[in-house]
Amino acid sequence: MGLALIDDRDGFIWFDGASAPTAIAVSRTPEPKVRPADDNLQFGTVFTDHMFRIDYTEGRGWHDPRIVPYQAFDFDPATAVLHYAQAVFDGLKAFRGVDGTIRLFRPTKHAQRLVRSCEKLCIPALDPELILQSFHALVGIDQAWVPGKPGTALYLRPTVVATEPFLGVRPSNTYTYFLIASPVGSYYAEGINPVKILATDKYVRAVKGGMGDAKTAANYAASIYAAVEAKHLGFTQVLWLDGVEHRYLDEVGTMNIMLKIGDEIITPPLTGTILPGVTRDSILTLCHDWGLKASERPIAIEDVMAAARDGSLVEMWGTGTAAVVSPVGELGFRDERVIINGGKTGPLTQKLYDAIVAIQYARAADPHSWTMPLRTSQTRKTATA
Ligand SMILES: *Cc1c(COP(=O)(O)O)cnc(C)c1O
Repeated sequence: MGLALIDDRDGFIWFDGASAPTAIAVSRTPEPKVRPADDNLQFGTVFTDHMFRIDYTEGRGWHDPRIVPYQAFDFDPATAVLHYAQAVFDGLKAFRGVDGTIRLFRPTKHAQRLVRSCEKLCIPALDPELILQSFHALVGIDQAWVPGKPGTALYLRPTVVATEPFLGVRPSNTYTYFLIASPVGSYYAEGINPVKILATDKYVRAVKGGMGDAKTAANYAASIYAAVEAKHLGFTQVLWLDGVEHRYLDEVGTMNIMLKIGDEIITPPLTGTILPGVTRDSILTLCHDWGLKASERPIAIEDVMAAARDGSLVEMWGTGTAAVVSPVGELGFRDERVIINGGKTGPLTQKLYDAIVAIQYARAADPHSWTMPLRTSQTRKTATA
C-alpha cells in the first residue's frame, strides 16, 4: 500500500499494534452533523459524518485510502456502473456492548465475502485486511455515532462501483471502494413480527451459472418486480424458488430461508444461486452447538406445503444481518395459504434471535470469536512513523 500524501489536513490513522499499517489519510468534517436520538432511528436514512474511500486505476492498483467528510459523488453520466451495474456491496454491523466496548460482528467474514463478490463481477481484488481496516478506521472516527440503546447498531455498507466513463461492455478500468455508516434502530421495536410470504413459480431471482451467490446490485434489481406484485397481493416478501424447475426453495426476499419440519432444521445448500449469509452460517453453527439436527439440503415447495397441511412444519424464518431472524407466519403458494405456528414467532426462532443478539452486545460469551472489538487507533501527522 502506498504512503502517498493526499489530504493530510488531520494526519493519518495508525492502529496500535498493527505490524504493517496502511496509511489512511484523514480529513475531518468541519461541520459535524447532529446525531438523531437512539429512539428515532430507522434503517439506512441517516449517515455518519465521514466515509472511507479508496480508488483503483488500471496500472496503479488500489490507491489513496482516505477518510473524508460524508459527501456526494460527482459522476460522469457515462459512468459504467450507472449503465451496466458492475457493482458489489456488503452489510454488517457494529454494536455498543453492555460494557461500553464497540464490537464488529464477524467483520472478517463480511470482508472475505466482498472480495468474492468482486471476483464474480471482474472487479480487481481488494485486500480483505484493507477492507477490515476501513471498518475499524471509519467506526473509530465516527464512534460517537454508534448508538447505545438495546437493539440499535451502526450499520456499515462497504460498496465497490465501476467508475470509468465508457459505454462499451467490458470490465471498467477504474473503480471506487467506499464505506458509509448509518446508525439504525431496532428492527423489532415492537417485538419480533412474523411476516407473510408468497412463493413464486412465475419469477426467478437467480439461476445456476448466474450471480445469485454474489452480493451485487443486479440481483436486487431483479427482485423488485416480483416483490411489488407480492405486496399488492398482501404479502411482505417473495419466497424465491430455483430458476430451473421452480420447485426448490432458494431464498426469501433478500434473506436466507430456514424451516423446521418435525425435529429437522432445513436450509437450502449453497449451490451457486444462494448468497452465503453470515447469519445463516452463525445459526447453523448454533444449531450444531446445541445438538440439533440441521441439514443443508434441497427442499421442494410442495413438500413444505404438505408439511404445513399435516402440521409437521413447525417453524419457518429468514436470516440476515438487518433483522437477524424474520419469522414467517403465513406462506402462500398458488391458490393456497397456510399459517405457520399460529402466525406467531416459534420458540426456536426466538431462541436463535436471543442467542445471537446476546453475543452481539456482549451479554453472553462468544465461544466462536464472532465479535471483534474496535481496534484502538491514533491519528498522526505523518504517514511514516
Ligand atoms: C445479504 C443477503 C443475505 C443475508 O446475508 P447476511 O450475511 O446474513 O446478512 C441473504 N440473501 C441475500 C440475497 C443477501 O443479499
